[in-house]
Amino acid sequence: MSREPKGYVPLSRSEYDTLKHQLSKLLFTEHAPVIIPGEAILGIEAVAAGISAPGRTILNVVTGPYGSLFGKWLERGGATVAQVAVPFDEVITAEAILAAIKKHKPCALSFVQAEVVTGGSNPAREILKIARDFDLITVMDSVSAVGGEALPVDEWGVDFAAIGAQKALAGPNGVSAVSVSLRGWEFLESNPHAPRNSILSLLDLKPDGNGTAPVRVPPNIPALEARALISALTLVEEEGLERVIRRHELAAASAIAGIRALGLVPWQKDSRFYSTLTTTVRISGKPGLLIDQPVGIVAPGDGELFGQLLRINHFGANACRPSVEEAVRTLARLLSQEPEHAIAAVSQVWGDEVDR
Ligand SMILES: *Cc1c(COP(=O)(O)O)cnc(C)c1O
Repeated sequence: MSREPKGYVPLSRSEYDTLKHQLSKLLFTEHAPVIIPGEAILGIEAVAAGISAPGRTILNVVTGPYGSLFGKWLERGGATVAQVAVPFDEVITAEAILAAIKKHKPCALSFVQAEVVTGGSNPAREILKIARDFDLITVMDSVSAVGGEALPVDEWGVDFAAIGAQKALAGPNGVSAVSVSLRGWEFLESNPHAPRNSILSLLDLKPDGNGTAPVRVPPNIPALEARALISALTLVEEEGLERVIRRHELAAASAIAGIRALGLVPWQKDSRFYSTLTTTVRISGKPGLLIDQPVGIVAPGDGELFGQLLRINHFGANACRPSVEEAVRTLARLLSQEPEHAIAAVSQVWGDEVDR
């Protein structure tokens, strides 16, 4: 008779190794990302705390609410924060980044890759290239971008990339990761203000530098969440990361086609920078769209964007044709329109792609 262990079983060595391997593969990095024992926002706050110090000037890009928050955490750490912001219906341009770097001469640059709240996606590859030209340490909040667009960490030379699984990867929100480059570790180690013996300390989580395996699985990793993340990443591997990204691209393109067929206008101004995770719809002049509760994946704007836009949250498991169709039906109903022509526009984008 086999004896199954009952109840909570600690994370095994092989589960831990699997998760580390899956995360490295997902991010195309040879440096195993640090597993953050909590929601993605913890990893982002830990990066801010670890890099900020009096005497350091950091250029922080604000294209949505997470960027503002990051700037406040940097200020708390004593850094001089140079901020470059755009209206939330735009993304940042490479030219604006270049001008701000020349003006402020920062040692590091932080930005959000894709914004679910505004529906915009920043030109990450160009921004990182400029940052490398000026030898800046780079921080990218890729929590919503991962699985929705390209994120080759080593190729792009990102020093800190924060990710979570709860958006495009359809995974749990209770454990997350930050990938840190060798330069990134040096930047933390050279900062006497970087937290130690703290939930915000990345240095406390640093793997041994000599390449030897840790003696035991870090005890702070939440085992159930880690198992859920392994399952989610296994599904991503089975589908193929490229196909997951493709599914998000189609969801976004079909949502845009659907809302345009209904006579609606995307909130984001420039179609080159639509996020693949959410489509944001301008409310202006359409009082029927003033909802205060989500209807399926159609949700009111967050914070200051309430009343200005609606979000279609077509990410993760909802990056599929039926979910986008349902959202377009919801919008048609709010506008008292027949949905058929808009549904046809959605279908046309998915074309012959297998329904998912
Ligand atoms: C979702 C998200 C996070 C994590 O935020 P939670 O509200 O904690 O889920 C961080 N940054 C960005 C850009 C996100 O989209």
